[in-house]
Amino acid sequence: MQVQGEAINLTLRAANDVRLHALKQVVFARLARLEQPVVPAWDHVAVGALPPNLTLAQVASVTRISPHFTRVRVEGHGLERFGDGGLHFRLLLARPGQAPVWPRIAADGRTVWPEGKDTLHRPVYTTRAFDPAGKWLDFDVFLHAGGRVTEWTSSAGPGDPVGLMGPSGSDTPQASWVGLFGDETALPAIACILAALDRKTRGDAFLQLSDLSDVQDLPHPPGVAVHWLTRGGGNDLVTALRGMALPETDRFVWFASEASEASAARSYLRDERGFGRAESNISGFWTAETSGHA
Ligand SMILES: Cc1cc2nc3c(=O)[nH]c(=O)nc-3n(C[C@H](O)[C@H](O)[C@H](O)COP(=O)(O)OP(=O)(O)OC[C@H]3O[C@@H](n4cnc5c(N)ncnc54)[C@H](O)[C@@H]3O)c2cc1C
Repeated sequence: MQVQGEAINLTLRAANDVRLHALKQVVFARLARLEQPVVPAWDHVAVGALPPNLTLAQVASVTRISPHFTRVRVEGHGLERFGDGGLHFRLLLARPGQAPVWPRIAADGRTVWPEGKDTLHRPVYTTRAFDPAGKWLDFDVFLHAGGRVTEWTSSAGPGDPVGLMGPSGSDTPQASWVGLFGDETALPAIACILAALDRKTRGDAFLQLSDLSDVQDLPHPPGVAVHWLTRGGGNDLVTALRGMALPETDRFVWFASEASEASAARSYLRDERGFGRAESNISGFWTAETSGHA
């Protein structure tokens, strides 16, 4: 960063276009928080182009894999991007029966989202599997009442257009001991984390389901025990977390569930157990309408 008279010259450098674009969006967000918001003038802007972190794809197949899970395979070009840089992506869907209008890069470098009738639904999903050659990617949808993606899976079929924006979010924990806690929405992420953990990792994974017929076979290191909990009867994830003997060092807790549960887990680990930010990743993956969270 260099001050030049009244201006500040800012140079951003990143490994690729996707990361550079993400960095630009961070700069926008920071500048927008200033008392006198500043709009940067970039040297290079691909006005009207699709954002580099957006990949367009088509549905290849929709398969019910258990009573409450449907696996969606999408096909396209460049999907190998989703194998590195985070487990998650935003699924972009047009309103039922409408052709999608995709976001574009504006003259100021910002991603501009379609509005009104063209507003896209943008929930976050997890890359469950992908083709290293980049031709296909699988994600698993937990089917729940009132869900727009649940509704979409009931009629989606080969050729239907989707957008995938990302990747972002969690990576595989690196500690010798890990505690993994998640509900159905976190099952795909925990499956990927368990499969990617170092074989010497020790720890426990707790997965909470409403229906044990949704249990999946999850490959995992021999030193990590996998526990399936059924919802109700005091079998919740926060109780499981509180009941654990946690090591003092070289530890990592990954927790993802409904927002109010995640918040309770965060308070417990940070306030009662002294976990630092680098020792945990705790996220609300969805918000129950009764939880009072935004
Ligand atoms: C990083 C991250 C990764 C995720 N990965 C996955 C994944 O791989 N698979 C997956 O299925 N989900 C995943 N989720 C959760 C998913 O994004 C949310 O459940 C999202 O709300 C689904 O959108 P929808 O269109 O189904 O529901 P919406 O139309 O957004 O919501 C409709 C109603 O459904 C309720 N609702 C939302 N989720 C649930 C739920 N789980 N149980 C009961 N009611 C619910 C809402 O409270 C709302 O009332 C992830 C979330 C995050 C943040």
